[in-house]
Parts: sequence; C-alpha cells; structure tokens
Amino acid sequence: MDTIRKPAGAVPANMPDHAAECRRFRWDEARAALLDAAGGLNMAQLAVGRHARGPIAAKTALRWLGKAGACCDIGYAELDALASRFANVLASLGLAAGDGVFLLTGRIPALYYAMLGALKHRCRVTPLFSAFGPEPIATRVTLGAGKLLLTTSSLYRKKVEPVRASLGSLQQVLLLRDDEAPLPPGTLDLEALVAEASPDYTVAHTAPDTPALLHFTSGTTGKPKGALHVHEAIVAHIATGRLALDLKPDDVYWCTADPGWVTGTSYGILAPLACGVTLVVDEADFDAERWYGILQRERVSVWYTAPTAVRMMMRAGTAAAQAHPCPALRFIASVGEPLNPQAVRWGLEAFGLPIHDNWWQTETGGIMVANYLSMDIRPGSMGKPLPGIEAAVLQRQPDGGVQPVPDGAEGELALRRGWPSMFRTYLNEEERYRKCFAGDWYLTGDLARRDADGYFWFVGRADDMIKSSGHLIGPFEVESALMEHPAVHEAGVIGKPDPVVGEVVKAFVALKPGVEASDALRRELLGFARQRLGAAVAPKEIAFAPSLPKTRSGKIMRRLLKARELGLPEGDTSTLEAT
Ligand code: AMP
Repeated sequence: MDTIRKPAGAVPANMPDHAAECRRFRWDEARAALLDAAGGLNMAQLAVGRHARGPIAAKTALRWLGKAGACCDIGYAELDALASRFANVLASLGLAAGDGVFLLTGRIPALYYAMLGALKHRCRVTPLFSAFGPEPIATRVTLGAGKLLLTTSSLYRKKVEPVRASLGSLQQVLLLRDDEAPLPPGTLDLEALVAEASPDYTVAHTAPDTPALLHFTSGTTGKPKGALHVHEAIVAHIATGRLALDLKPDDVYWCTADPGWVTGTSYGILAPLACGVTLVVDEADFDAERWYGILQRERVSVWYTAPTAVRMMMRAGTAAAQAHPCPALRFIASVGEPLNPQAVRWGLEAFGLPIHDNWWQTETGGIMVANYLSMDIRPGSMGKPLPGIEAAVLQRQPDGGVQPVPDGAEGELALRRGWPSMFRTYLNEEERYRKCFAGDWYLTGDLARRDADGYFWFVGRADDMIKSSGHLIGPFEVESALMEHPAVHEAGVIGKPDPVVGEVVKAFVALKPGVEASDALRRELLGFARQRLGAAVAPKEIAFAPSLPKTRSGKIMRRLLKARELGLPEGDTSTLEAT
C-alpha cells in the first residue's frame, strides 16, 4: 500500500493520536464548553465577540489583501465593533431575528463584518458568489425570502437593478459605494449607516438551534438546494478547525474559498476566527504567481485550498514553487473534489509537505472525513472520520432500510446523525430532506469504500456513476488515471448512452500548456488508460477541450458535459464558473 509516513513535526499536532481522540471525544462536552450561562450560543459571539474582550482583542483577526495591492489589518476588537455596528444598522432598519440577509460582494472587509453582524442579530445569512448573474441571484433571494441585500453599487447596477422589481420579499438594499455615481433609488449607503451606528450591541439569547446560515449547494448534478444551518454548527467548526486543520492560536491561516461556497464561510470565516488565528483574505481571483507570493510574504502556516487550485499551480510548474520558499507553511489541506494521488505528492515536491485531502459537503456544514497532521496519508484516500463522527458505507435496501457492506466494497457514504453542523432542512423542501435519512443515518449521495484500516476512498457521486456492460464505473477513477499522464491537465468523464453496452465511458481532456491535441495523442491516452484501468473501465472515447466547465467552487460539471454531448438543455448553470 502506497503510504506517506508522517515524521513528528516541528509543531506538535493538536491531535497526536486519532484513535485515542475518537474514543475520548463527545459532542455534548464540546457543546457544553461553549454554551453561555443561559444555555445559548451565538456564532458571531464565539467568532469575535468573546475575543474582543479577551487577551487577543488587539491581535489581527483579518489581514485583507486588495486586488489592486491595498493591504489592511483588522484586529479582533475592531472586527467585533464593526459587526456590532452592522447589527445595529439591521435593527434600525427593522430587521428581526430569522429575517433573510443576503450578501453579494467580493471578498472585501464589509462581507466579513456584515456576516458577523447579521449573525449577532440572529438573522439568517446567505452569502452569494459575486460572479452570479441576475437570474441566479433572483432565484436565491426569492427562495430564501431575502429581506435585506448588501452589495456594491457597481454589482447592484449590473446584477440586481435589472431584476429588482421581481424581488417581492426584498425590503432594503445596502450599497457599498465603489463608483462615483449617485446612489440609485431604493438603496441606502452602507458606510454612512455603519459610521452612524453604535459599536455596542448586546447579543440576545440565541438558542443553539436558531437558524444561522442558508447555503445553496453548488449543484454539480442537479438544481441547487438551500441547506439550512443553525448557530450550534460553530461547535463543529471549532472542533474540526482544531482537529482536521490543526489550527493553533499562532497560525496565519489562508482559506482560498469564497464565502459564496460553504467552505469559505465555515472555514474561511467562522472556524479560524473562533480559533483565534490570523485570517488572510485575498480579494483577487486565482493567479499562481500571486498565490505563491501570498504564501511566502504573509508567512501563511496553514493553507486550505481546493484540487482545481492545486492543479492550476501544478500547471504553473514546480520552478514557480521553488522560487518562493515558504518556511512558515506547516500544513496544507484540500477539499471539494477528489484529490488525485499525484496532487497529494506534488505538495511534497513544491512545499516539502503532502496535501491533506478532506471530505464534506454543504449539508454536513463541516469537515467529516480527513487526513490529519499526525496520521499517515494513503494518497487518493480522503482519510478517516473526525472524532465524534460515525461514518459507514451502506447499501440501500428495497424496504427503505440500509445494510453495511464489507470492507473494500462500494456503497453509499453515510453519517450517523447528531453532529452539531448537520443541516436542519432544505428550505421549503422538507420531504426532500427526510429522504436523505434512513433511520439515524444521513445518506450523503456519495459512493465510497472503506479499507480494512478504516481509511475512506471516494468513488463518485451516486448520480454520476456510469453503467457500462454491467460494470459500475466511477468517473473519478478514470479521471484520476488520465491525470497521471504528463500531457493531461484535467479530465472530466461521463457515460454516453449506448444501445449495446448501456453507456460508454467518454472522457473530456484539457491538455497542459504547450501540448498539442492530435489523433496520435488521443490513441496514446486511450492506451495509457486501458493499461491502468483495464478495458472494461477505460474510456472508449476521448475528446479534447480547451477547459472543462466548473462550478464556482471548482467542481467539474459532469452533468453539463453530458448535456452538451447529448445536445440536451443545460438546465441550471447558475453556479457555473466562466470558462
Ligand atoms: P458542496 O456541497 O458543494 O461542497 O459539494 C459536496 C460534494 O463535493 C461532496 O458530496 C462530494 O461529492 C464532493 N467532494 C467534496 N470533498 C471531496 C473530496 N475530498 N473528495 C471527493 N469528493 C469531494
């Protein structure tokens, strides 16, 4: 078995022994340690409020790096005061607990203090990708009954004004002015309101199950759904931040995800602030040179990113990495898509550190399965369940029940309910929510295997699986094999309906820069895949594509590849990244 052994690190791990921590850990204890005297718990209070009156009040909470080169440090007490001002603005505008607040901005400080302020005021917050167009914005604001929207004046003009009349629930629009034009009618000036508001705000009793965040899933295979999370989710953010990301108070931490994706909220705002680290926020989009510069200059010690970003950095070559030594970097983790073994090992080449894959989804609210600092890595495996998380590989039964499958066999990844960051419903789709459970098990919709040592291996989304000549084939396995070829940058694999074998495996391949597509290369790749996967699993067809369609969070949209292949309507493409 291919294993990356872990020598003892310079910094001892928060969790030196995974098995021992699993035996010891209890969610009710973790929760009890955070409850206030009245049995309440508020995310923003735990993320910034308590630090603002403690020993790290003056410490930098957020180091903001602007697109155009600006840099600004915001301390814990200052961030808390800004959040309180925003909470007071909400109160003065008549917003009450439970009201929907939508945030549509780039990664700018206002997004961070507004989210924390809205949480203090017990509103239900939805951050949206600023790259969304008018349609996806309108759909989500309507579904989530948004009462207040915060955006910038330029985004408002481009994306909200055209659909504003259709947004019946929306009562207030706050604009951060980023142009010279006068404020459009029906909007208010955010900065003026924040400046006038008091920096003191008393958080009312927040029961642990008070709604806090509404996140729309990225929808790689279907229409987005609104997953509702509650304030006590922060108990899991803190525990997983410590155990899976090994966050320690002295860390400088960078999560590259946008808060429009759940990763950018749970681990791009809440977990790191609650753990008291310094959080780096970069406003700009991906650029390999810029990212290396940030890792080096900001002395990032813990870095949480995604496989697409890793692959783009790999594409830029190891010379770029070697030109930017990062001695402060001590832990790298990735989430969102399978991390192929080559990418895990590339971390060793580029930074002297392997990349630690971990697994979770919008619905779970926090990391559920992970590779840990103190645990050997089996490249290609997503690791072992977090302490407090019982994961299993199950088979659905015709009677609606579930049965475990033996180690090594494929089945659906399931989690026993009861962890604090579990979603509490799909908004307005209670029936759909109920269908995710079989008894006490939450069925994730992902297929996986567990090996005899307890490591979990991702197989694919249950609804992405390809059935060819009686074989069940996971696209990821095929993509991963193709990506081992030196000419391949990325691959997306689908099943193409076929009257004889059911579906044939078809791969879309984006090549590395400088590599020319040709029939000879196509044949070579077909042979390469056949050698690694066998004829039953290897693709029968390969098409070259300049790039692959992806969601804003970087997931390959196989559904879209398939729709395009078959000339079908593309369905909901609202989360699609411009390609
Ligand atoms: P989202 O809710 O948008 O974060 O998407 C969650 C889905 O992304 C999961 O159900 C998986 O299908 C996929 N995913 C997330 N992390 C991983 C990972 N480490 N390995 C494989 N798939 C992953």
